[in-house]
Amino acid sequence: MAEEVEALSNYFAILKGKALPAFKLARKIRCEQRGSLEEMWEEHRRAAAVILEEGGAAAGRQDAPYSFLDLKLDIAQRLLESCVLCERRCRANRKEGRLGWCRVGAQSRVASCFEHWGEEACLIPSGTIFFAGCNWRCCYCQNFDISQFPQSGVAWGGKEIAGWLDRKAASGAVINANFVGGDPTPNLHTIIDAARNMKSSLPLVWNSNMYMSEESMELLDGLVDVYLADFRYGNDECAMRLSEAPNCLSTTKRNFLLASSHAELIVRVLVLPSHIDCCARNIIAWLGENLPDKAYVNLMSQYRPCYKAFGQPDIARQLKKEEFLRAAAFLQKSRIKNYEIQGLP
Ligand code: SF4
Repeated sequence: MAEEVEALSNYFAILKGKALPAFKLARKIRCEQRGSLEEMWEEHRRAAAVILEEGGAAAGRQDAPYSFLDLKLDIAQRLLESCVLCERRCRANRKEGRLGWCRVGAQSRVASCFEHWGEEACLIPSGTIFFAGCNWRCCYCQNFDISQFPQSGVAWGGKEIAGWLDRKAASGAVINANFVGGDPTPNLHTIIDAARNMKSSLPLVWNSNMYMSEESMELLDGLVDVYLADFRYGNDECAMRLSEAPNCLSTTKRNFLLASSHAELIVRVLVLPSHIDCCARNIIAWLGENLPDKAYVNLMSQYRPCYKAFGQPDIARQLKKEEFLRAAAFLQKSRIKNYEIQGLP
Protein backbone atom coordinates (compact mmCIF):
# COMPACT_ATOMS: atom_id res chain seq x y z
CA MET A 1 0.00 0.00 0.00
CA ALA A 2 1.17 3.54 -0.77
CA GLU A 3 2.45 5.75 2.03
CA GLU A 4 -0.45 7.16 4.05
CA VAL A 5 -1.40 10.76 3.37
CA GLU A 6 -2.70 12.72 6.37
CA ALA A 7 -5.54 14.37 4.44
CA LEU A 8 -6.84 10.95 3.29
CA SER A 9 -7.10 9.10 6.62
CA ASN A 10 -10.65 7.84 6.03
CA TYR A 11 -9.74 6.57 2.55
CA PHE A 12 -6.88 4.55 4.04
CA ALA A 13 -9.17 3.25 6.81
CA ILE A 14 -11.54 1.93 4.10
CA LEU A 15 -8.63 0.27 2.26
CA LYS A 16 -7.63 -1.48 5.50
CA GLY A 17 -11.20 -2.64 6.16
CA LYS A 18 -11.48 -0.42 9.28
CA ALA A 19 -14.27 1.77 7.85
CA LEU A 20 -17.04 1.32 5.31
CA PRO A 21 -17.18 3.31 2.09
CA ALA A 22 -19.88 5.98 2.24
CA PHE A 23 -22.22 4.15 -0.16
CA LYS A 24 -22.25 1.03 2.04
CA LEU A 25 -23.19 3.14 5.05
CA ALA A 26 -25.91 4.86 3.00
CA ARG A 27 -27.50 1.47 2.33
CA LYS A 28 -28.08 1.02 6.05
CA ILE A 29 -30.03 4.24 6.56
CA ARG A 30 -33.75 3.61 6.31
CA CYS A 31 -35.76 6.11 4.27
CA GLU A 32 -39.38 6.56 3.32
CA GLN A 33 -40.48 6.68 -0.30
CA ARG A 34 -41.99 10.05 -1.11
CA GLY A 35 -44.13 11.37 -3.96
CA SER A 36 -43.00 14.86 -4.89
CA LEU A 37 -39.43 15.97 -5.52
CA GLU A 38 -39.73 18.47 -2.70
CA GLU A 39 -40.72 15.74 -0.24
CA MET A 40 -37.91 13.53 -1.50
CA TRP A 41 -35.37 16.29 -0.80
CA GLU A 42 -36.87 16.75 2.66
CA GLU A 43 -36.40 13.05 3.34
CA HIS A 44 -32.89 13.20 1.90
CA ARG A 45 -31.91 16.03 4.28
CA ARG A 46 -33.32 14.09 7.22
CA ALA A 47 -31.27 11.00 6.28
CA ALA A 48 -28.10 13.07 5.72
CA ALA A 49 -28.52 14.48 9.24
CA VAL A 50 -28.86 10.93 10.63
CA ILE A 51 -25.56 9.90 9.03
CA LEU A 52 -23.87 13.01 10.37
CA GLU A 53 -25.16 12.30 13.86
CA GLU A 54 -24.48 8.55 13.92
CA GLY A 55 -21.17 8.51 12.07
CA GLY A 56 -19.99 4.92 11.58
CA ALA A 57 -22.37 3.59 14.27
CA ALA A 58 -24.75 2.33 11.58
CA ALA A 59 -22.03 0.06 10.15
CA GLY A 60 -23.22 -3.05 12.03
CA ARG A 61 -26.84 -2.76 10.83
CA GLN A 62 -28.59 -4.68 8.07
CA ASP A 63 -29.19 -2.92 4.78
CA ALA A 64 -32.50 -1.02 4.81
CA PRO A 65 -35.33 -2.21 2.51
CA TYR A 66 -35.53 1.31 1.03
CA SER A 67 -32.31 3.12 1.82
CA PHE A 68 -30.65 6.52 1.54
CA LEU A 69 -28.96 5.17 -1.61
CA ASP A 70 -32.30 4.16 -3.15
CA LEU A 71 -33.64 7.62 -2.37
CA LYS A 72 -30.60 9.22 -4.04
CA LEU A 73 -31.26 7.21 -7.19
CA ASP A 74 -34.94 8.19 -7.24
CA ILE A 75 -34.03 11.87 -6.89
CA ALA A 76 -31.35 11.65 -9.60
CA GLN A 77 -33.86 10.01 -11.96
CA ARG A 78 -36.30 12.84 -11.26
CA LEU A 79 -33.59 15.44 -11.95
CA LEU A 80 -33.03 13.86 -15.38
CA GLU A 81 -36.54 14.95 -16.38
CA SER A 82 -35.37 18.57 -16.22
CA CYS A 83 -31.63 18.15 -16.00
CA VAL A 84 -29.81 20.23 -13.42
CA LEU A 85 -27.04 17.75 -12.71
CA CYS A 86 -24.38 20.32 -13.52
CA GLU A 87 -24.17 24.09 -13.19
CA ARG A 88 -25.33 24.64 -16.77
CA ARG A 89 -28.84 23.70 -15.58
CA CYS A 90 -30.09 23.03 -19.13
CA ARG A 91 -33.42 21.63 -17.90
CA ALA A 92 -33.48 19.19 -20.83
CA ASN A 93 -35.79 16.21 -20.34
CA ARG A 94 -33.14 13.55 -20.86
CA LYS A 95 -35.61 10.84 -19.86
CA GLU A 96 -37.66 11.68 -22.95
CA GLY A 97 -34.62 11.62 -25.21
CA ARG A 98 -33.87 15.35 -25.25
CA LEU A 99 -30.24 16.36 -24.97
CA GLY A 100 -28.71 19.23 -23.05
CA TRP A 101 -25.45 21.06 -23.63
CA CYS A 102 -23.34 17.97 -22.84
CA ARG A 103 -25.34 15.81 -25.31
CA VAL A 104 -25.18 12.89 -22.89
CA GLY A 105 -28.38 10.83 -22.99
CA ALA A 106 -30.18 9.23 -20.07
CA GLN A 107 -28.40 5.99 -20.98
CA SER A 108 -24.77 6.29 -19.93
CA ARG A 109 -22.05 5.15 -22.30
CA VAL A 110 -18.68 3.84 -21.14
CA ALA A 111 -15.78 4.57 -23.48
CA SER A 112 -13.34 2.35 -21.56
CA CYS A 113 -12.65 0.80 -18.19
CA PHE A 114 -9.32 -0.47 -16.96
CA GLU A 115 -6.83 -0.79 -14.13
CA HIS A 116 -5.29 2.67 -14.11
CA TRP A 117 -1.66 2.89 -12.97
CA GLY A 118 -1.22 6.56 -13.90
CA GLU A 119 -3.09 8.16 -10.98
CA GLU A 120 -1.61 9.44 -7.68
CA ALA A 121 0.41 6.78 -5.78
CA CYS A 122 -2.27 6.32 -3.09
CA LEU A 123 -4.91 5.52 -5.73
CA ILE A 124 -3.22 2.88 -7.87
CA PRO A 125 -4.22 0.46 -9.23
CA SER A 126 -7.48 2.30 -9.75
CA GLY A 127 -10.63 0.75 -11.25
CA THR A 128 -11.35 3.52 -13.72
CA ILE A 129 -14.58 3.96 -15.64
CA PHE A 130 -14.32 6.48 -18.48
CA PHE A 131 -17.75 7.82 -19.43
CA ALA A 132 -18.26 9.32 -22.87
CA GLY A 133 -19.22 13.01 -22.96
CA CYS A 134 -18.44 16.07 -20.86
CA ASN A 135 -20.07 19.24 -19.56
CA TRP A 136 -16.98 21.29 -20.50
CA ARG A 137 -15.29 21.84 -23.86
CA CYS A 138 -11.62 22.30 -23.06
CA CYS A 139 -9.89 23.24 -26.28
CA TYR A 140 -6.76 21.39 -25.07
CA CYS A 141 -8.52 18.19 -23.92
CA GLN A 142 -6.24 15.16 -24.11
CA ASN A 143 -9.27 12.86 -24.10
CA PHE A 144 -11.30 14.80 -26.65
CA ASP A 145 -12.09 11.59 -28.56
CA ILE A 146 -14.03 10.48 -25.45
CA SER A 147 -15.14 13.76 -23.90
CA GLN A 148 -16.48 15.42 -27.05
CA PHE A 149 -18.12 12.34 -28.55
CA PRO A 150 -20.85 11.26 -26.15
CA GLN A 151 -22.01 8.55 -28.54
CA SER A 152 -18.70 6.70 -28.34
CA GLY A 153 -18.27 3.60 -26.19
CA VAL A 154 -20.93 1.12 -25.15
CA ALA A 155 -24.20 1.53 -23.25
CA TRP A 156 -23.64 0.41 -19.66
CA GLY A 157 -25.96 0.74 -16.68
CA GLY A 158 -25.26 0.44 -12.97
CA LYS A 159 -25.35 -3.37 -13.02
CA GLU A 160 -22.70 -3.70 -15.72
CA ILE A 161 -20.42 -1.18 -14.01
CA ALA A 162 -20.86 -2.82 -10.60
CA GLY A 163 -20.19 -6.25 -12.11
CA TRP A 164 -16.92 -5.09 -13.68
CA LEU A 165 -15.76 -3.37 -10.47
CA ASP A 166 -16.70 -6.37 -8.31
CA ARG A 167 -14.76 -8.75 -10.55
CA LYS A 168 -11.70 -6.49 -10.45
CA ALA A 169 -11.98 -6.04 -6.66
CA ALA A 170 -12.36 -9.80 -6.08
CA SER A 171 -9.12 -10.52 -7.95
CA GLY A 172 -7.30 -7.73 -6.10
CA ALA A 173 -6.67 -5.92 -9.38
CA VAL A 174 -8.00 -2.54 -8.20
CA ILE A 175 -8.28 -0.73 -4.84
CA ASN A 176 -10.96 1.85 -5.63
CA ALA A 177 -13.75 2.73 -8.07
CA ASN A 178 -12.75 5.82 -10.05
CA PHE A 179 -15.49 7.57 -12.07
CA VAL A 180 -14.25 9.93 -14.76
CA GLY A 181 -14.87 10.96 -18.38
CA GLY A 182 -15.18 13.52 -19.87
CA ASP A 183 -16.81 14.16 -16.57
CA PRO A 184 -18.87 11.84 -14.36
CA THR A 185 -21.53 14.47 -13.52
CA PRO A 186 -23.97 13.83 -16.42
CA ASN A 187 -23.86 10.16 -15.35
CA LEU A 188 -24.56 10.63 -11.66
CA HIS A 189 -27.77 8.53 -11.82
CA THR A 190 -25.83 5.58 -13.31
CA ILE A 191 -23.06 5.88 -10.72
CA ILE A 192 -25.57 5.82 -7.86
CA ASP A 193 -27.12 2.72 -9.42
CA ALA A 194 -23.66 1.12 -9.69
CA ALA A 195 -23.16 1.79 -5.96
CA ARG A 196 -26.55 0.15 -5.25
CA ASN A 197 -25.40 -2.98 -7.08
CA MET A 198 -21.78 -3.25 -5.89
CA LYS A 199 -20.94 -6.12 -3.56
CA SER A 200 -17.33 -5.10 -2.98
CA SER A 201 -16.31 -2.35 -0.57
CA LEU A 202 -14.17 -0.23 -2.86
CA PRO A 203 -13.91 3.44 -1.87
CA LEU A 204 -15.60 5.66 -4.47
CA VAL A 205 -13.50 8.30 -6.21
CA TRP A 206 -15.21 11.19 -8.02
CA ASN A 207 -12.73 12.31 -10.70
CA SER A 208 -14.15 15.59 -11.93
CA ASN A 209 -13.91 19.23 -13.04
CA MET A 210 -16.14 20.13 -10.02
CA TYR A 211 -18.82 21.81 -12.11
CA MET A 212 -21.66 20.01 -10.34
CA SER A 213 -24.90 21.74 -9.36
CA GLU A 214 -25.77 22.16 -5.68
CA GLU A 215 -28.35 19.38 -6.12
CA SER A 216 -25.65 16.99 -7.36
CA MET A 217 -23.39 17.99 -4.46
CA GLU A 218 -26.15 16.96 -2.06
CA LEU A 219 -26.48 13.60 -3.78
CA LEU A 220 -22.72 13.05 -3.66
CA ASP A 221 -22.77 13.56 0.12
CA GLY A 222 -23.05 10.00 1.44
CA LEU A 223 -21.91 8.44 -1.85
CA VAL A 224 -18.35 9.58 -2.53
CA ASP A 225 -15.28 8.99 -0.36
CA VAL A 226 -12.65 10.93 -2.28
CA TYR A 227 -12.92 13.81 -4.73
CA LEU A 228 -10.09 13.65 -7.26
CA ALA A 229 -10.76 17.15 -8.37
CA ASP A 230 -9.32 19.44 -11.01
CA PHE A 231 -8.94 23.08 -10.00
CA ARG A 232 -7.99 24.54 -13.35
CA TYR A 233 -8.88 28.23 -13.47
CA GLY A 234 -8.29 31.21 -11.21
CA ASN A 235 -10.78 33.47 -13.02
CA ASP A 236 -13.90 33.22 -15.18
CA GLU A 237 -12.45 34.74 -18.34
CA CYS A 238 -9.84 31.99 -18.76
CA ALA A 239 -12.45 29.30 -17.96
CA MET A 240 -14.87 30.67 -20.54
CA ARG A 241 -12.33 31.09 -23.31
CA LEU A 242 -10.55 27.74 -22.85
CA SER A 243 -13.33 25.46 -21.55
CA GLU A 244 -16.63 27.26 -22.33
CA ALA A 245 -17.51 27.06 -18.63
CA PRO A 246 -19.53 30.07 -17.39
CA ASN A 247 -19.49 31.03 -13.69
CA CYS A 248 -16.64 28.60 -13.23
CA LEU A 249 -14.84 30.16 -10.29
CA SER A 250 -17.79 30.67 -7.96
CA THR A 251 -19.10 27.18 -8.81
CA THR A 252 -15.87 25.33 -8.25
CA LYS A 253 -15.05 27.25 -5.04
CA ARG A 254 -18.50 26.49 -3.65
CA ASN A 255 -18.13 22.83 -4.57
CA PHE A 256 -14.66 22.48 -3.06
CA LEU A 257 -16.00 23.78 0.24
CA LEU A 258 -19.05 21.48 0.09
CA ALA A 259 -16.89 18.49 -0.88
CA SER A 260 -14.50 19.08 2.03
CA SER A 261 -17.45 18.98 4.43
CA HIS A 262 -18.41 15.39 3.60
CA ALA A 263 -15.45 13.64 1.93
CA GLU A 264 -11.70 13.82 1.38
CA LEU A 265 -10.00 15.79 -1.36
CA ILE A 266 -7.15 15.36 -3.79
CA VAL A 267 -6.87 18.59 -5.77
CA ARG A 268 -5.07 18.52 -9.11
CA VAL A 269 -3.62 21.80 -10.29
CA LEU A 270 -2.49 21.34 -13.88
CA VAL A 271 -0.26 24.32 -14.61
CA LEU A 272 -1.15 25.79 -18.01
CA PRO A 273 1.51 27.73 -19.97
CA SER A 274 1.10 31.53 -19.63
CA HIS A 275 -1.47 31.00 -16.80
CA ILE A 276 0.78 31.25 -13.76
CA ASP A 277 -0.42 34.58 -12.33
CA CYS A 278 -4.03 34.54 -13.56
CA CYS A 279 -4.72 30.90 -12.65
CA ALA A 280 -2.12 28.79 -10.76
CA ARG A 281 -1.25 31.55 -8.26
CA ASN A 282 -4.91 32.44 -7.56
CA ILE A 283 -5.87 28.78 -7.12
CA ILE A 284 -3.03 28.07 -4.70
CA ALA A 285 -3.77 31.26 -2.74
CA TRP A 286 -7.44 30.28 -2.39
CA LEU A 287 -6.64 26.71 -1.34
CA GLY A 288 -4.09 28.01 1.19
CA GLU A 289 -6.66 30.32 2.71
CA ASN A 290 -9.67 28.01 2.65
CA LEU A 291 -8.50 24.39 2.75
CA PRO A 292 -4.93 24.50 4.08
CA ASP A 293 -5.07 21.10 5.80
CA LYS A 294 -8.14 19.52 4.19
CA ALA A 295 -6.82 18.92 0.69
CA TYR A 296 -3.94 16.96 -0.74
CA VAL A 297 -2.70 19.14 -3.60
CA ASN A 298 -0.93 17.72 -6.65
CA LEU A 299 0.84 20.34 -8.77
CA MET A 300 1.05 18.89 -12.26
CA SER A 301 3.49 19.75 -15.02
CA GLN A 302 2.48 17.49 -17.88
CA TYR A 303 0.48 19.89 -20.04
CA ARG A 304 0.95 19.21 -23.78
CA PRO A 305 -0.92 21.18 -26.46
CA CYS A 306 -3.38 19.03 -28.39
CA TYR A 307 -6.87 19.07 -29.96
CA LYS A 308 -7.74 22.76 -30.61
CA ALA A 309 -5.05 24.28 -28.36
CA PHE A 310 -3.06 25.41 -31.38
CA GLY A 311 -5.77 28.01 -32.03
CA GLN A 312 -5.01 29.73 -28.68
CA PRO A 313 -1.54 31.32 -28.76
CA ASP A 314 -1.13 31.36 -24.94
CA ILE A 315 -1.44 27.57 -24.62
CA ALA A 316 -0.18 26.43 -28.03
CA ARG A 317 3.12 25.34 -26.51
CA GLN A 318 4.52 23.26 -23.69
CA LEU A 319 4.93 24.65 -20.19
CA LYS A 320 8.34 26.22 -19.54
CA LYS A 321 10.54 25.03 -16.70
CA GLU A 322 10.66 28.52 -15.14
CA GLU A 323 6.85 28.78 -15.26
CA PHE A 324 6.45 25.53 -13.34
CA LEU A 325 9.11 26.55 -10.83
CA ARG A 326 7.22 29.80 -10.15
CA ALA A 327 3.99 27.90 -9.54
CA ALA A 328 5.86 25.44 -7.30
CA ALA A 329 7.30 28.35 -5.28
CA PHE A 330 3.79 29.71 -4.67
CA LEU A 331 2.73 26.31 -3.39
CA GLN A 332 5.78 25.89 -1.16
CA LYS A 333 5.21 29.33 0.38
CA SER A 334 1.46 28.75 0.89
CA ARG A 335 -0.22 27.37 4.03
CA ILE A 336 -1.15 24.14 2.22
CA LYS A 337 0.13 21.28 4.37
CA ASN A 338 -0.17 18.22 2.14
CA TYR A 339 1.09 18.39 -1.40
CA GLU A 340 3.26 16.87 -4.08
CA ILE A 341 5.06 18.60 -6.92
CA GLN A 342 5.54 16.60 -10.09
CA GLY A 343 8.80 16.55 -12.06
CA LEU A 344 9.82 19.49 -14.20
CA PRO A 345 8.21 19.77 -17.63
S1 SF4 B 1 -25.45 17.36 -17.16
FE1 SF4 B 1 -25.27 19.58 -17.32
S2 SF4 B 1 -24.84 19.98 -19.49
FE2 SF4 B 1 -25.65 17.90 -19.36
S3 SF4 B 1 -27.85 18.12 -19.70
FE3 SF4 B 1 -27.53 18.16 -17.48
S4 SF4 B 1 -27.35 20.33 -16.92
FE4 SF4 B 1 -27.06 20.15 -19.17
